[in-house]
Amino acid sequence: MPLFPRPHSPERFAALEASNPQQAAHTQQIVKLAGSSDVCSVCGDDPASDYKLMAPNMPPKAVGTIKLCAGLPQTAIGGRRKLRSIIGNSKFRPPVPSGF
Ligand SMILES: [Zn+2]
Repeated sequence: MPLFPRPHSPERFAALEASNPQQAAHTQQIVKLAGSSDVCSVCGDDPASDYKLMAPNMPPKAVGTIKLCAGLPQTAIGGRRKLRSIIGNSKFRPPVPSGF
């Protein structure tokens, strides 16, 4: 079953390091450079919202959460190329309400 830890939380980094060390390193670098954990996981833009990946057949222990700026979800719908390289060909759901 996929995991849905809060984006940029220690739990998420731990889970991501186990399933996708390259992405974990990338995101950690982004957060470090931005100086804030409230930024897009991909480009470091602020503001960013929490997203949950709603993809069928996600591998067990896949990390199904990400924080994205306003530009990226549209990119995912239009030309998915940039997102696909990072998180796979997945569908997005609108931002998850706080408390998730
Ligand atoms: Zn972004």
